[in-house]
Amino acid sequence: MDLISANSFRRKDRIEELIDANVSQKKHITRDVIKKWFADHKHYPESICRHRENESSAYTNTVTAFSVIMNLEECQMLLMEGQACSPVEEIEVGFS
Ligand SMILES: [Zn+2]
Repeated sequence: MDLISANSFRRKDRIEELIDANVSQKKHITRDVIKKWFADHKHYPESICRHRENESSAYTNTVTAFSVIMNLEECQMLLMEGQACSPVEEIEVGFS
């Protein structure tokens, strides 16, 4: 059994593509930009934002359960419950 699913590498490649595009264009990367990356659906159903596939079992499917964005300089964390494209809830947490 593989420890890492092949589709994880596809999502990793996609997030690198998004990061590289922003860095090469010298865009300022904000929390809202990262939220858009997490909500990306390119290569669906193996997209960064994963949804349950039709006709699949809830026990064998991989879905996005939550996303976390941490700003270590400002000691803030955003937890988004559910898929990043339509989070059920967003919780902001400060830490020190
Ligand atoms: Zn989505």
